Amino acid sequence: MSHTAELISVGTELLLGSIANTDAQMISQGLSALGINVYYHTVVGDNPERLRSAVDIAKGRADILITTGGLGPTCDDLTKQTLAAAFGLPLEFHQPSADRIADYFRRLHPTRPMTENNLQQALLPKGCTVFDNDWGTAPGCAFQAQGVHVLMLPGPPRECRAMFTHRALPYLRALSDGTILSRTLKIFGMGESSVEAMLRERMNAMTNPTLAPYAKEGEVELRITAKAPTEPEAQALIAPVEAQLRALLGDVVYGADVKNLESAVFALLKDRGLTFGAAESCTGGLIAKRMTDLPGSSAVFRGGVVSYTDAVKHGVLGVPQELLAQFGAVSPQVARAMAEGARRVLGCDLAVSTTGVAGPDSDDRGNPVGLVYVGLAGPDFCHVKELRLGASGRAGVRNRAALHAFDQVRRHLTGLPLD
Ligand code: ATP
Repeated sequence: MSHTAELISVGTELLLGSIANTDAQMISQGLSALGINVYYHTVVGDNPERLRSAVDIAKGRADILITTGGLGPTCDDLTKQTLAAAFGLPLEFHQPSADRIADYFRRLHPTRPMTENNLQQALLPKGCTVFDNDWGTAPGCAFQAQGVHVLMLPGPPRECRAMFTHRALPYLRALSDGTILSRTLKIFGMGESSVEAMLRERMNAMTNPTLAPYAKEGEVELRITAKAPTEPEAQALIAPVEAQLRALLGDVVYGADVKNLESAVFALLKDRGLTFGAAESCTGGLIAKRMTDLPGSSAVFRGGVVSYTDAVKHGVLGVPQELLAQFGAVSPQVARAMAEGARRVLGCDLAVSTTGVAGPDSDDRGNPVGLVYVGLAGPDFCHVKELRLGASGRAGVRNRAALHAFDQVRRHLTGLPLD
């Protein structure tokens, strides 16, 4: 049976826009990986009447209801009371949770006595499954009543993520009579709408596995989700679909179940024992940032030069003044000289360069916003690719330019054409 979940996030700060609802984002991602439909997210302030009315609506249209926040010890933390009342359950004092809370305080604040209100957190709906909180104080819980599975998780994102992963996910998996397995193909170089248009009919016709595209900061993810009695059977359903999709989409697929493009590049470079560096103008260090976000990247990444001005392009990377004067900083000639200069200065096997107009205005030579040149230099070649990223906005142009630079390295290392 397929399940439908609804999320209710409790917290006035969310309604005021003081914080973003990252808990809901994280939980929705987890639910969609499990193949559970999510049709509504509701945000309610710390107000029991409005929370109650949101719960009454949700239980009429979902069979899994997940709340975040409002489990703490203060008087505005009313989620458990309200949910228990909405489902006609009394609250009961749960001694093991009280002991855990007292112990947590003893360890964290040995000299400060715990205030009594903290023990309110040990009041839980009668008969619920308790989600022990190893990351904070308030326990979460789950129960089934009136045909709905109700799960309550704490608000602080660190606690919410840990409890969702280690307590709620196993609970939710047990609701399904088989295994739900997902595999995510990662795509760069084709937009979500093109992927969708290419696969629409196929996607509509598929029931198991299902196929869903997601747009992600210049990339597209294509998630194949299969349901079967066992994991090997689910894998067997996914494998032929993955093979067909790879054949259909071709070399824009850069990996499956990999984190991002730079980690795919990192793995390729490491495999081949090659080093890499960057000369960045319009990306302003983004390539270096993304690379060094990866633990262990010093094995392949030698460093980067943020050569934002002509003076640095010339002084540090050795880009000839004549090139800068004749063609301007945003030109294939300068991109080439930057990449070659970076290889020499950084002493790496492969170097990329970026130079372009991130916007919002065109440059003093009249180059349009979004015109970017990406260079890639190796021991015996240098290739420059021209990009037109006009409609992406300043952050989008920079992000896409960095992704293209990584993609050029990937394409070179896997023997694909660079244009
Ligand atoms: P506590 O024990 O800290 O009171 P709680 O479960 O009662 O935990 P809240 O009091 O509702 O949770 O929220 C605690 C903090 O967690 C909030 O101040 C906010 O910073 C963060 N938080 C709450 N809900 C969310 C959410 N949906 N997304 C992101 N952050 C959140």
